[in-house]
Amino acid sequence: MNKQNSDSKLYFYPGAIHIHSKFSDGTGDIFKISRAAKKAGLFWIIVTDHNCIDIEEGIYNDVFVIKGEEISPETENHYIALDIDSAILPSDSPHEYVEAVRSHGGFGFAAHPDEAEKRKNKAKPLRWTDKSVDVDGIEIWNWFSDWADNYDESNIFTLAKAYFLCHKLIKGPHAETLKWWDELNLKRENIVPAIGGADAHALRVTKYIIPLKVFPYSLCFKTLTNVITLQKPLSKDFDEVKRTVLDSIRHGNNLIINRKYSKTSQFPLFQAVNESMAVNAGGEIELSENSYLHIKLPQKADIKILKDGMPFYSENSKKIILKLDRRGKYRFEAYFKNNPWIFSNPIKVK
Ligand SMILES: [Zn+2]
Ligand SMILES: [Zn+2]
Repeated sequence: MNKQNSDSKLYFYPGAIHIHSKFSDGTGDIFKISRAAKKAGLFWIIVTDHNCIDIEEGIYNDVFVIKGEEISPETENHYIALDIDSAILPSDSPHEYVEAVRSHGGFGFAAHPDEAEKRKNKAKPLRWTDKSVDVDGIEIWNWFSDWADNYDESNIFTLAKAYFLCHKLIKGPHAETLKWWDELNLKRENIVPAIGGADAHALRVTKYIIPLKVFPYSLCFKTLTNVITLQKPLSKDFDEVKRTVLDSIRHGNNLIINRKYSKTSQFPLFQAVNESMAVNAGGEIELSENSYLHIKLPQKADIKILKDGMPFYSENSKKIILKLDRRGKYRFEAYFKNNPWIFSNPIKVK
């Protein structure tokens, strides 16, 4: 193991993806949203309004605000489209708009693909209906969908629980979503990236989701976060930061963390190292005599390491160093006191 590599300085930048503003069915303008993001300790956010990309990107309240779009047909197949300059219209064929995003130089993620069909509330699930569509990546976990899948509006007590104990309703990514993601990663040479979506609306009433007033931006931004790990600090220049953030997301250089269970400003480390280099999530590294996987968490948790989608190693620990002797794509999940906490993108050992 090369000590120098595993100890070299790293920089962690938490941000949020999948946010709705006044330009669609959110209630906040960019000033309000960025203020909430700043307060929650986020460095960057990506606003993704339904079928529009009108937000003026830039630096607001010290937060880098990047524009994206949630391509949103009425009833299904929502697609988070990033790195595009103009809105792409939804159609009945997700093949069409997934391809359109690519031909505009962008990339995208199937949004909340497996929302529960059986719910104890009237909110209609919005699912991804055709998993043969060649998506670039998957939103494997969506905080708001997770909550909406699990809240019970049958009486005043269950409703009160849904709002006041909202974090208790969060169950983590759907097994079928993780299965789809792992299968794509098995099939494709490159890493198929995943994101966690806040799906923040600070919602009042909408035809898209549930007819209730729900969680403010400040609460959403303290839940599902995407943390990018970099080897040098972010610059102050908006265009440079935008490029770095989008490239990081495109390549899966983010860990998806429910910050409800991160009590400190410490961030998890996920690396593979060999004699000559160290890579973070989304990276590729050659297998050698001295290849190791490193996981270091801010606190003890149940860590499950998966190789090519199959359980590979698990331990209740704060720190794991594992010698690698097989090629494959490795990712990990961490559960804090049985609560879903961290989902990493894979590292490819080749
Ligand atoms: Zn959606
Ligand atoms: Zn949304």
